[in-house]
Amino acid sequence: MNNLLNCDYMFKKFSLFLLLIILAVISLGTVSAAANNTIQYSNVNHSQNIASTTNSLVITAVDPKKGSINVAINKTIKIKFNQPVKFKTGWIVFRKDGKLTSFYKSINSEILTIKPVAQMRKGSIYSIVLHTNSISNNNGSGVAYFSTSFATAINIDIINHATGGDITKNTLLYGYIQKTVLSNDIISKAKIGTPIITFGDGNGPRVLIVAGVHGNELPAPAAAMKLINYLNGKHVHGTVYIIPFAIPYSIAHKTRYWHGQDPNRIANIAGSPTNIIVNLAKKFRVMALGDFHSSIQGGVPGKDSALCTMIPMYSSYRIASYIAKYSGSSLIADKIAGKAYPGALEDVTNLNRIPAVTCEVLANHNTLSMNRINKSYKQMWGLLKYLGIE
Ligand SMILES: [Zn+2]
Repeated sequence: MNNLLNCDYMFKKFSLFLLLIILAVISLGTVSAAANNTIQYSNVNHSQNIASTTNSLVITAVDPKKGSINVAINKTIKIKFNQPVKFKTGWIVFRKDGKLTSFYKSINSEILTIKPVAQMRKGSIYSIVLHTNSISNNNGSGVAYFSTSFATAINIDIINHATGGDITKNTLLYGYIQKTVLSNDIISKAKIGTPIITFGDGNGPRVLIVAGVHGNELPAPAAAMKLINYLNGKHVHGTVYIIPFAIPYSIAHKTRYWHGQDPNRIANIAGSPTNIIVNLAKKFRVMALGDFHSSIQGGVPGKDSALCTMIPMYSSYRIASYIAKYSGSSLIADKIAGKAYPGALEDVTNLNRIPAVTCEVLANHNTLSMNRINKSYKQMWGLLKYLGIE
């Protein structure tokens, strides 16, 4: 019995060996034939190349596309493969701003669907990782490591409904604003009031950037829009609030005044546009406020500068020093907030014990150039860098 079995076993083993040799010879022949075809006919027929690799599982499409911005917060994510798939053993990971977040997953033929359990948050970066072998085809052949990420649409709120204006009417400014989905959204909302754009979730260092308090000073609003479009889709280390058009009405009408008053002298009057901004800075508990302006030739200060006071918030002096150095601007430090410019946004904010600075770039009223925008932009970055946000 044993011998017979043994003999049978040996025979089977030998047959298997023969079979393997035959298969090896056949496949070698196929490979060399395929190689020949490739060399001789590669310009004529690419399908033979593709046909020889279609057995491997690959991703053919991702929606939203990798690196997308302005993605709707109710979006369902779909990953399409080149053949029907099923779940295998590896992990699938879904993250919001780097932190694990829960999701539902399902497969319909060649499409993997990922649906966040909670609605996605505006202004966040979401990422998906398919670890090796998390998904396989019906033969058990697994997917290779894959990762993708996208950004949801930025949050835009209106902080003051009395100030709305059509920014597109200021053709000089509008001409310098990058025409993006986000820009259009902000400009459209500015028609009903003062828009504020938020990057980050309120954690980390928080900063408020203000531009357009004076509607005839154009470099800062253009720089703020440049910054907004730059930050869109990027992970921000902290929270950046940006008001690109403090008084859209004034920008649309190319004037520095608001109801006959200088808006940068009435921040201490309840309900004024700048007073609303001071209260917002308090509500958000920002660590610093930067108010960005421009100054005419021969005016005060009449040069690229960072202005601050030392009392009561000495840190505003440190911030202005940093910005001045970083952006190549002059440092102008007054001693006590509210003395030289009572009612200025910077002064009233400092008196409310939030460090605040004013930045000026040299530019005549209702004029604009790339050079002046970039100087204002650099001053804004000085503020962000001081706070460790980049
Ligand atoms: Zn100004």
